[in-house]
Amino acid sequence: MKRIAVYPGTFDPISQGHVDVVLRGLRLVDRIVIGVAENTAKAPMFDLATRLEMVRRVFADQPRVEAVAFTGLLVELAQDCGACAILRGLRAASDFEYEFQMATMNRRLSPELETVFVMAREDYTFVSSRFIREIARMGGDVSSLVPPAVLPFLPNQG
Ligand code: ADP
Repeated sequence: MKRIAVYPGTFDPISQGHVDVVLRGLRLVDRIVIGVAENTAKAPMFDLATRLEMVRRVFADQPRVEAVAFTGLLVELAQDCGACAILRGLRAASDFEYEFQMATMNRRLSPELETVFVMAREDYTFVSSRFIREIARMGGDVSSLVPPAVLPFLPNQG
């Protein structure tokens, strides 16, 4: 039986840190379904369709990775995908509080679903979608922070 994990996030936009989390996850499971969340509360810079398109382009050559949009409960997406785990990335202690609450809530909703955390490469620990958006808006070069396929979507690059 194939092991599947869902990796949920806003991916506004997908960064090298996110990619690193996926590649590490692929060492643990057979397939990863990246769940691109609508997340209107975060008022994303890119709409859902564009965020999904960016993720799909980044993993176009990776048959073990699939991307879907989701607007409902994460545990429902996981169930629909037949996933046994939720994959998340940890950068610093500042991520912990939110991740701890989310993992605990999801466990309450779906006790058989395990949340698994991986740590990104040290040189990506400072990478966040928020800083990528802000640096790009102000005309800074973000080419080392996002996969090449994402660069054309960002303002003021190249
Ligand atoms: P969310 O809005 O759900 O936090 P994000 O797209 O911001 O969505 O992040 C998705 C997941 O990826 C989170 O678990 C986050 O901690 C993790 N993540 C984001 N950037 C990095 C990074 N540079 N290194 C490791 N994990 C990361």
